[in-house]
Amino acid sequence: MYIYDSVQKTKLKFEPIKAGKATLYVCGPTVYDDAHLGHARSALSFDLLTRTLNASGYEVTFIRNVTDVDDKIIAKMKQTGKSLHEITDFYTKRYLEEMDTLGVLRPTISPKATESIDAMEDMISTLISKGYAYQISNGDVYFDISKDKLYGSLSKKVNDDTISRIEHISEKKNSKDFALWKACDINENVCFDTKFGRGRPGWHIECSAMIAKHTQGTDEYSIDIHGGGADLLFPHHENEAAQSRCATGHALAKYWMHNGFVQVDGEKMSKSLGNSFFLKDALKAYDGEILRFYLTSIHYRNDFNFNETDLLQSKKRLDKLYRLKKRLLNTISSTVNSEFKQTLLNAMKDDLNISVALSVIDEMIAKSNEALDSNPNDKNLKKEIAGNIEFINMLLGFGAKEPFVYFQLGVNEALITQIETLIERRSEAKKQKDFALADQIRNQLNIMDINIMDTANGTVWEKIS
Ligand SMILES: [Zn+2]
Repeated sequence: MYIYDSVQKTKLKFEPIKAGKATLYVCGPTVYDDAHLGHARSALSFDLLTRTLNASGYEVTFIRNVTDVDDKIIAKMKQTGKSLHEITDFYTKRYLEEMDTLGVLRPTISPKATESIDAMEDMISTLISKGYAYQISNGDVYFDISKDKLYGSLSKKVNDDTISRIEHISEKKNSKDFALWKACDINENVCFDTKFGRGRPGWHIECSAMIAKHTQGTDEYSIDIHGGGADLLFPHHENEAAQSRCATGHALAKYWMHNGFVQVDGEKMSKSLGNSFFLKDALKAYDGEILRFYLTSIHYRNDFNFNETDLLQSKKRLDKLYRLKKRLLNTISSTVNSEFKQTLLNAMKDDLNISVALSVIDEMIAKSNEALDSNPNDKNLKKEIAGNIEFINMLLGFGAKEPFVYFQLGVNEALITQIETLIERRSEAKKQKDFALADQIRNQLNIMDINIMDTANGTVWEKIS
C-alpha cells in the first residue's frame, strides 16, 4: 500500500510500526454546532482509508476524538443558557447519526476530551518538568517553541503570518508560544482541578494526550497515520507533533495525511458568505449513499467543488450499478471474482486512487451486462456479479440497498401513499380475478413513471429514472 505523506510531500510505501497492524488517529469534531460538508468529506476520506487497510489485511485501530470542551462550546453555553453536556451530547449524537447515514464506519475508540483530562495533566506535567512548558502568573501554561528544535518541521510554516496574530501576552517567552492550559477565572464553571491549578485544556493538547492514553506505539512513533483536513496542518498538527515529541521523546506519527477543502459552487464555504452547507441540509435533499458516492468520487487530496449538477451526474454512475443489481433479483451472492477484487483493491492501495477504482467498477458493470445479455439464466454468473457488488460495498461503502428501494429515492411521501394505495387495489383486483382492472392500474402507475414487479414477497415498485 502507498500513501501520500503530506509532510514529506511524496507518496510512500506504507510500512506499519507493528507488523500487520495499523493505528490511525483522525481529529474529530468540536461538538458545538452541526457538521458541514467539510466535516463529511474528512470523515469519508479516512473511512475509505480504514476500509482499504481492513481489506488489505491489517488489523486497524481507528481513533477519532470528540472535542467536548472548547471556547466555542463555552460561547454557545452563554448564548443559549444550556449546560456543557446538553450542548455536547446533542451535537455528538447528531454527528454520529449523520456519519452513520453516510456509511462512515464507527471508530474503534472515540475518546472525549472531558474524559481524558488525566492524560492531559500527565503530559503537561511532563512538559513542565522537562523544561518545554512554563506557567505564567495568571495560571496559564504555555509551550515554549524555542526549546523544540524541530518546531515547524511539519508544516514548514513557522514564520506564517497567522501566528503573529495571536494576542500579545507580555509574560510569554516567544510570541508564537501556545497555551497548553488556560486557567479559569472566578466566574467560569467549565473547569478541572489539576496539579498546576484549576482550568481547562488548550485544543492542541487534547489530541496529543488522547493519543498517548489510547495507544502503545514503539520507541520511534506513537501511531502509524495521523489524519485530518488540510486546514489542520498548521497550527493544530504542528503543535500536536511538538507536544508529543517533547513529552514522549519520539515522533507522534510515521505518516501524516490531509484531505482537501470543500467549496460550494466555486467559493470557499464560510458562514459569512452564507454558503456554509450543513450536512443536515444536504441529507434532507439527498440520500446518504448518493452523497457518499458523490463526495468520495474526487480524490481525497484534491479540493472538492460541491454543486448540484455534478451531484446528479455522479448519481447516474451509481444508477448503473443498481441497474445491474436489478438484473440479479433473488440471487444469493458467492465469492467475488478474484481478478476484479485485486484490481479494485490495488487502485485503492495506491493512495486511495478512487478515479481508477470507479473506472474498474464501470468496466465490471459493462462486462457483466454483456455476459447477462448472452446468458440471462446463468446462475453462477449472477452469483459472481452479486459477490463483486458485495465487495464494492465492503471496500467503498455503496451498493448495499435493494435496487427497488434505491430507485424509490427522491419520491415524496404523498406520492408513495398514492402508489401504495394503487398497488393494494391492483392486488385486490387480481384476487377477484378482475384482470382488466389490474392491468388498468399497472398502466396508470406506468404513466406516473412507476414500474412494478411481482415478486415472491409481494409487489415492489420503483421510479423509472
Ligand atoms: Zn487533533
